[in-house]
Amino acid sequence: MKKIMFVCAILAMCVVNIHATEDVDYIDVVEGNRVNNNILYENVQVSSYGIRLAENALEGSISQTIKSQIAFNAATIAWIADVPDRTGIQVEFSSLLRSGEWSLWQNLPQGGGDIVLSDTALAYRYRVLFHSTQAGISPVLEKLVISYNEIFPEMLYKEFKPWGNATRGVVKPSIVSRSEWGARPPKSGYTYHTPQKITIHHTWRPTSTDYQGSATIRSIQNYHMDSNGWSDIGYHFLIGTYRSSGETKIYQGRPENVVGAHTGGANTNNVGVNVIGDYTTETLHNNSYQALIKLLGWLCSHYSINPDNIYGHCDLNSTACPGTNLYSLRAKIREDVRNYINGGGGSKGTLIGVIYDAAQGTQAKISGATVKLNTGNTATTGSDGLYSFELTPGTYKIEVKKTGYQTGNASETVIEGQTVWESVGLKK
Ligand SMILES: [Zn+2]
Repeated sequence: MKKIMFVCAILAMCVVNIHATEDVDYIDVVEGNRVNNNILYENVQVSSYGIRLAENALEGSISQTIKSQIAFNAATIAWIADVPDRTGIQVEFSSLLRSGEWSLWQNLPQGGGDIVLSDTALAYRYRVLFHSTQAGISPVLEKLVISYNEIFPEMLYKEFKPWGNATRGVVKPSIVSRSEWGARPPKSGYTYHTPQKITIHHTWRPTSTDYQGSATIRSIQNYHMDSNGWSDIGYHFLIGTYRSSGETKIYQGRPENVVGAHTGGANTNNVGVNVIGDYTTETLHNNSYQALIKLLGWLCSHYSINPDNIYGHCDLNSTACPGTNLYSLRAKIREDVRNYINGGGGSKGTLIGVIYDAAQGTQAKISGATVKLNTGNTATTGSDGLYSFELTPGTYKIEVKKTGYQTGNASETVIEGQTVWESVGLKK
């Protein structure tokens, strides 16, 4: 009892509010071994190990109501607890909706889970119920972590359409496996999903100059498992580049076919790729960029993900992640991934056509005409008046020149694996 009093006196406040100390949502942490005056304790006691049932009690609980720092519509609740046989811990969550009503208590699965609300909330409450079937044996709650954020509604209901065929022949880049970087095993089983979109993150901390190879990946995993209470490292992939040597590696986090923890409320079917660094201030190393394109190219190719479904974290949640200097590259990343895939597989289309004398008709073919595309590609027509290009899919502007004629213009959309015709008649 004295020990409890002592802990009480020096550590009265134990819900700490952290925002973006790592790439995370708004987080409230309940440390089980510290008394917090804002928590309602019933039939439980706080020990140096955590919160447990009071002596001889078979039922107990803690509960608390917390005003959120932002209006939120997605939350993730995780906890670390020792639960002996014949005992149990039940965690429930409810939120205060804008209508002024509390949502029904939602019972979370063991190991925690995501909650997505139908409306934004301004506060939430949780309760942890302790059960035992034998006096003296109790579950012990070491830590409860509640993170929440706003997920943008248009992203909640967006359909992520697949892109083309899954066999584009893009080579999988070299990836440091979990055993190679010394990963801990996950604390609980994975939930499987099908990758449909990709979200790019930065770490913020560590910065890119802090990066120390596998040790950095292990420290991020430790933080996610021990501080955030997650089952495993949150991201599916991490990319690190040594600023000094430029050596770059891609690391496997969670397997990409299981749900990660990186985008509050939108983790299902979402692959989280983290580029280690702080891109609010640092600029992306070109080697990191090249590794990112290769990785995303392989992911999009292998899982038929349309490169338009590549996002920055701030597209989905209220966050500065992945930093302006990385987020500003989003359109270029999508385009480069598309080009990378098209260059890596037999996915080009053919643009072909006849250049003819407009006054005389298509049979009056013009040889020696120069056909130039907006990409700079040129071709010269032969005696049959034909020109042709093998091109990656997209829309091209065509300009045709021949001495003695006016310049002809056209445009045509090239489709993967198909031949499209665009013949141009020249006027004198
Ligand atoms: Zn992020």
